Amino acid sequence: RTVFVNGSYVLENEASISIFDRGSLFGDAVYEVTSVLDGKLIDYDGHMTRLRRSLDELKMPSPASDEELLEIHRKLVELNGIEEGLIYLQISRGAADRDFLFPGPDVKPTLLLFTQKKSLINSALAERGQKIILVDDLRWRRCDIKTVQLLYASLVKNQAHDSGADDAWMVLDGEITEGSSNNAYIVTEDGTIVTRDLSSDILHGITRKAVLKCAGELQLKIEERPFTVAEAKAAKEAFSTSATSFVNPVIEIDGAKIGEGTPGPVARRLREVYIASSKAAGI
Ligand code: PMP
Repeated sequence: RTVFVNGSYVLENEASISIFDRGSLFGDAVYEVTSVLDGKLIDYDGHMTRLRRSLDELKMPSPASDEELLEIHRKLVELNGIEEGLIYLQISRGAADRDFLFPGPDVKPTLLLFTQKKSLINSALAERGQKIILVDDLRWRRCDIKTVQLLYASLVKNQAHDSGADDAWMVLDGEITEGSSNNAYIVTEDGTIVTRDLSSDILHGITRKAVLKCAGELQLKIEERPFTVAEAKAAKEAFSTSATSFVNPVIEIDGAKIGEGTPGPVARRLREVYIASSKAAGI
């Protein structure tokens, strides 16, 4: 695979960054994952808008212009022949002597991108539906910034797998925030889609925005508000969304069967409609 690091396209085993990179020493880095379908970037503008916001919130300089970032994304997809998969972008504050204080303007941010071929549309998990465990949300309270501080998310995903489940949803004050790497939704008895409102408690999912737009176009009722553990367990349907899993049905939450215990019609319909509309809008 060819990857991009600090201005160069190089083979992955020839790419390197400093051991003093603040991304690894402090988790001082932000990232984005954009999916690729039919060789095209999905929801690209949304991902780049969120990237700019993450950089601003952390007062981190940008290593490249919008035009340059688009060119790098396109070139890597082409060089690696990605028809279906993803492209990962990471920007760290750069390499400097280890210090909690940010380095001066002479230190340039580290920019790296790599691609991954992956079957996204045909997903065994989406066919079967996910089993979810509930865990305390012990993350820092700026979950709206997409940083590489993913240790807690990784820990709870492993905890889910170790207990025979697929993923974990996090709970703050009795209410669901989001999944380990996705936004969380339920569908109530009367067919209303409920998902937590935007705040610093959750990542402002790019897929969330697009899927809610699809739901609106399908005339489905939507409530953006926190929902409780009890509401989730009693829901008619549940699902999650993310850039690489699109809409992913949930069939069990902490041992409680959701609906019929099979992927529900709202989640299945939204998955189809989102995939079709995002493909059509891909760049
Ligand atoms: N929440 C969290 C914690 C995530 O890590 C992700 C995916 N990176 C999402 C939600 C979904 O965001 P998106 O739809 O932009 O992929």
